[in-house]
Amino acid sequence: MAEVSLKHIYKVYPNGTKAVNDFNMQIEDKEFIVFVGPSGCGKSTTLRMIAGLEDVSAGELKIGDLVVNDVEPKDRDIAMVFQNYALYPHMTVYENIAFGLRLRKLSKEEIHKRVVEAADILGITEYLGKKPKEMSGGQRQRVALGRAIVREPKVMLLDEPLSNLDAKLRTQMRAEISKLHSKLQTTFIYVTHDQVEAMTMGTRIVVMKDGFVQQIDTPKNLYNYPENKFVASFIGTPQMNFFEGTLCKTGEEVIIKFDYANVEIKVPYSMLYKAKPAYLDGKTKVYIGLRAEDISLASEEDNNKKAVIKAVVSHKEELGNETLVYGDINLNGGETESPTKIVLKDNSGKEIKTGDIIGVALNLERIRLFDKETERSVLPRVPEYNYLDCEVKNGKLCFLGAELGLPQAVKCPDGKYQALIPANAVTAGGSIKAKAVSCEDINGVKLLSLTLGGKRLYAVNADYDGGETVNVGLDFKKITLIADGKNIVEPMPENSTLSCKFVKRKAVKTEEINGKSKRVKTVNFGFEINGAFFAVSDAVSQKIFAALGMKKALAASLKLECRAEDFAVSENGIAAEAEEFLNFGGEKFIRCKAGADTVYVKTEKEYSGVVYLMPDFEKAGVVETERDIKII
Ligand code: ADP
Repeated sequence: MAEVSLKHIYKVYPNGTKAVNDFNMQIEDKEFIVFVGPSGCGKSTTLRMIAGLEDVSAGELKIGDLVVNDVEPKDRDIAMVFQNYALYPHMTVYENIAFGLRLRKLSKEEIHKRVVEAADILGITEYLGKKPKEMSGGQRQRVALGRAIVREPKVMLLDEPLSNLDAKLRTQMRAEISKLHSKLQTTFIYVTHDQVEAMTMGTRIVVMKDGFVQQIDTPKNLYNYPENKFVASFIGTPQMNFFEGTLCKTGEEVIIKFDYANVEIKVPYSMLYKAKPAYLDGKTKVYIGLRAEDISLASEEDNNKKAVIKAVVSHKEELGNETLVYGDINLNGGETESPTKIVLKDNSGKEIKTGDIIGVALNLERIRLFDKETERSVLPRVPEYNYLDCEVKNGKLCFLGAELGLPQAVKCPDGKYQALIPANAVTAGGSIKAKAVSCEDINGVKLLSLTLGGKRLYAVNADYDGGETVNVGLDFKKITLIADGKNIVEPMPENSTLSCKFVKRKAVKTEEINGKSKRVKTVNFGFEINGAFFAVSDAVSQKIFAALGMKKALAASLKLECRAEDFAVSENGIAAEAEEFLNFGGEKFIRCKAGADTVYVKTEKEYSGVVYLMPDFEKAGVVETERDIKII
């Protein structure tokens, strides 16, 4: 039983293929995690890195409390099940299952007990005396599972274990593996390219594409709230319908216009509160996504929760309990690859034939929208920003009928602006009174929806104890004010970066040996920043060596990433020039220049001239510059 932690994990193969990029995930004890994605997306490589069969190029991989980057596979307390079973043909089933335990020199009695128990769990007791070739694919895979479970591993790794089996057996084994997981109460990590397998087995699923994680979520959330068009299209059958179009806000309604077809529908603006206003200009192109089950043949009762449009039927597929009806919302269209084709699920039993013009009802609440360029959701579950019109007048920021004094650090002439206020910049306990609408926990992020001056305002992770009225304020260091397309006020960067090298220094220290002081030669590892050397703890050194190897670590150009609160102004440290004192009211900072780097430092005192900065290396991030890989 163990947690598995992957921090900034990369895999670059010797031929330069970047198979896995910045994989971050905390897998909890006893979870059933599925890595899913099309062939070549990096899922097996990630699993093989966890197993220790591939080196980790950068990042930190932990099983339980142990960093395992350099730990041999046999010492990782894992067991792996492969697609091709990998059984020894000359051994009986019993011997195959017992083999690993013999190597580990367990007693005969213990081996026998474990083999019999595993065979019983897997229903293969009667085959223990047989050879693998006398067994079916499903039975062989059970033997492979048996060999894994007798090792009582902390983590079970399964690489496409069912893909050699026929469809019926696959469904059966799927259920059996799920049962096995609940029985063993062990962490399972399972790789498949089959989304149905992923959806039916995983407690959480990692969807990957081209070496990048697309989304990590529960099956239900992936289905209901895909973060991008790829996830939306990969999960669910038949594939989600995607139309192209634009959104135009008029008053409290938004008109969704479908390109290449003479179709428009209206939805209430409240459905699009989380969208960036730029999407509602009637010009910015979006994908309109709707699943087949959210479209039906229009009936008399379709109320205002649905929009009825027309389509011409091209063909249909009878599935027994329901019919998939294919058609086109461009009544003159009908080409299979057109962006106006539609598929819907019908279970009304109505007679429909090719060429019929039918009314189809779209369930408006289930419409998903994606940016045409980036393919990211236009309606993120947790909105990053509030987009507001505001005015600066007499040193005050006026927005949504509220007023806040600008702190000294925000310098901005009077005038009208657009404000970009991150949801995490709306803080609890300020002087603005807003009304609370809802508070949701979205994958551990607390999203508070407020209304202020009749408009929506989102706050993320602001302390909220319930109640109708909430006092909120703004964290001014995070906001952007824009006039005529130019940023007049920029947010303070969350991290400052410092160019550095990782170096080895010889040192001499004095030690007490048998009551006598002796000078002993030692070696220190640390960062060289702007000409100064800073020794770091063994823990930090080991992380860097784990990610890059000793030779590369000492040659690479690195960047240290530090938050403003993780610097101290001290007697010695990195020499820097204090350029400006920034007073945000509650918090104060100095902006400094260290060599070519600009650094923000949290402080209470106003400094000027030369200062010496001491970063907290235990809290700093480290990036390898050449490949732009975050290693800590
Ligand atoms: P998946 O399991 O999702 O099908 P893999 O993890 O096997 O994908 O592969 C990810 C990428 O890495 C692919 O582009 C693949 O061609 C490449 N790759 C896999 N193994 C090697 C290797 N040993 N050397 C070079 N490239 C590899």
